[in-house]
Amino acid sequence: MKDNENQIKARVTAKTLNLINTNSPAEAGWFSQDFNVCLNGTCYAAIKENAVEKMKEGKKSTCSYCDNPLIPEKIGLIQIQFRKLE
Ligand SMILES: [Zn+2]
Repeated sequence: MKDNENQIKARVTAKTLNLINTNSPAEAGWFSQDFNVCLNGTCYAAIKENAVEKMKEGKKSTCSYCDNPLIPEKIGLIQIQFRKLE
């Protein structure tokens, strides 16, 4: 997972990435958003919420980028915190 995190970091603007264990103050104006990403090979595509829901319901669901079947072990979670700049 550590390797995956580093690779994801390289693909996401570093400042916007907030790893889960970071102690961030709940400042006013900050929003957080969870993103599911595909961990099949080097795909790392963002997976749509409804595709994840489909998988959770036990239905066949595939990554729309790499076309691999979605399974819980191959889905990573990125939490991004952001706020509107004045
Ligand atoms: Zn994929």
